[in-house]
Formats: sequence, C-alpha cells, structure tokens
Amino acid sequence: MAEFYVEINAQGNGEHVVHISECSLLPSKETLQYLGSISNTKSAVKKAAELLRKQAGGCSHCTPAYQTF
Ligand SMILES: [Zn+2]
Repeated sequence: MAEFYVEINAQGNGEHVVHISECSLLPSKETLQYLGSISNTKSAVKKAAELLRKQAGGCSHCTPAYQTF
C-alpha cells in the first residue's frame, strides 16, 4: 500500500498528475487532493479520475508507468 495524492491543478493537456507521498517532486500540500492508502497505482489513477471527473495520469518521477503525457 502507498499513500497517493493527485494535483488539483491540471497540466497543460488537462490531465491531473497522481503522486505517491514519497515522491520528491510532490508539490505543496495545498495544491494536492489526498486519495488515500491504495494498493496500486492503477487504482489510484482511476480513483483520481473519478474524484475529479477529469483525466488523470502518472507522474514522470514516481509513477512513470502511468504517465500519459
Ligand atoms: Zn510524483
């Protein structure tokens, strides 16, 4: 399990980046929505997309397998 966060502000392509709590590129907490303790990145990205009703994708640093931009 890992703690996941999603950026509240979208990237230029309209996607919201999902990070794990240990990511060194994690932005300041006030720009993040906490997703919870989740067993895998795929579920975290799905949860982020449902929560925000927007596209979500992985971070190039901590969740690159799910990076879509
Ligand atoms: Zn990250």
